[in-house]
This record gives sequence, C-alpha cells and structure tokens, in this order.
Amino acid sequence: MPEGHTIHRAARDHRRILADQKLAVSSPQGRFAEGAARLNGRRCRAVEAYGKHLLYHFEGGDTLHIHLGLFGRIRKHKLPLAEPRGAVRVRLVGPTHAVDINGPTICRVLDEPERLTLIQRIGPDVLRADADPERAFKKIMRSRAPIGRLIMDQSVMAGIGNIYRSEVLWRQGIHPQTPGRMIGRAAFDRIWTDAKALLTIGVKRNAIITVDGAIPSKSRYRERVNIFAKTQCPACRGAIRRFEIDGRRAFVCEACQPLSGNE
Ligand SMILES: [Zn+2]
Repeated sequence: MPEGHTIHRAARDHRRILADQKLAVSSPQGRFAEGAARLNGRRCRAVEAYGKHLLYHFEGGDTLHIHLGLFGRIRKHKLPLAEPRGAVRVRLVGPTHAVDINGPTICRVLDEPERLTLIQRIGPDVLRADADPERAFKKIMRSRAPIGRLIMDQSVMAGIGNIYRSEVLWRQGIHPQTPGRMIGRAAFDRIWTDAKALLTIGVKRNAIITVDGAIPSKSRYRERVNIFAKTQCPACRGAIRRFEIDGRRAFVCEACQPLSGNE
C-alpha cells in the first residue's frame, strides 16, 4: 500500500505535466470508458492529494478521483504514446507526457458536491498546508482505540501508512497500544510534527527515510528505517516485538516505548 508521501509526490509530478492542459482521457482497458468520455478533451485545472486520494480537477467542476488501494500503480511516460501495459484503467495524455493508472481501488468522476463530501470524510492530512490537526486530536482524545490504529485511520488523520506508523511512535517513545484518550496534547503534537517532517522527507526523497540524517539506501528497497521489520532496537539494543494491528504488521520496543508513561 503506498503511503501518503507517494501520492503527494505523484500529485506534484502530475501537476507539472498535466495542470493547465487539455487532456486526452481514455480507458484502454474499458472499465472506465464512460467516466473517461466525460473528461476527455477538457482542461485539467489542478492535481492534488488528500491523504492517499489523488484528485485531478477539470474545468467545469468535475474531478477524477483515484485511490490506488493495495495493488494499484501509476506509470508516467514521455510522448510519443506507448502501448498500454497491462490493464490500464485510465490514461491521461497531456502535450508532453502520459499517465497510466492500473488496478486502482477507486477510479470515478466526482461532481462538486461529491468532491466536498469526500474531503470532509478524510481526516486532516499531515502533508497539507491547510490541514487542521485539531480535528485529529479531538477524535483521538475521545477514543479508547490504540493510538497505533488511530494514526493510520485515514478518517482520523491522513497520510500515515504501515511503516510510518511504527516508526513515528518509536521515535516519539509512545507505545502503539496506548489508548487514544491517554495520549495528551503534547504527545499528539509530537506525533503530528514528526509525521509531517518524515512524510515531507519521503516526498522529497521518494523513499521512506525515518533515520535522522540518512539518505536512501542503494539496495532494491530504498527505505531507511529504525524498527520496522527489524529485530533489534537501534537505541537500546533490546528486542523489537512484532505484532499485528487490524491484520497489519506493527513493531514496538517495549523498553523505549513503555505502555504507561506517555503524558
Ligand atoms: Zn529500544
């Protein structure tokens, strides 16, 4: 599952090549033929990300709404147009580049009221300048659910995925199973600020980098992380415990992240 930084990076890339341009929109695979026809030939006004949702705004008020889910992927290439690879749900062609999206969970056209409904449903996105962290804090302070679940719940706050979850909580010394209502204001502010800083690095580097000062690894997996999928804590050399939250892997150092003791 792409984390929020991937989608923000795609939005930034696509804004450069598609915004303010009239686009040829098609569905080579055919499953989005009707939606593509509605957008085809119209000018793309802007491209933006809200959490893991990618939105292409078109002149006249319609928005193309994409969510990649677990298996969706985006390919971008320079013109001339290449043959579609695999089942391309939607293809956006501007004057210099084309963007192909395969296998998204969501690919639909929203009118203006539908777009507003979507935005209200998504929690504040740590990467957006207009995000209001208060909305997230209010939900967290009223919840008995573990903070490790809440910060990945995209309706509470948006952008954090599975790797950033474990990493941010470790960096802030907060146990993932701490109930939301036990997380005080100061701890919440640290989580928000750190998530924002780390995801910003992720957008810039196009890789998850949560080790201070690290640069992307040259190996196949470019991530540089502290405890995710590791066995030893880099701070105390103790064992990292692996467990699951809602079926997704989570990691904790019980020594550096005691279950009590968050302010
Ligand atoms: Zn430790």
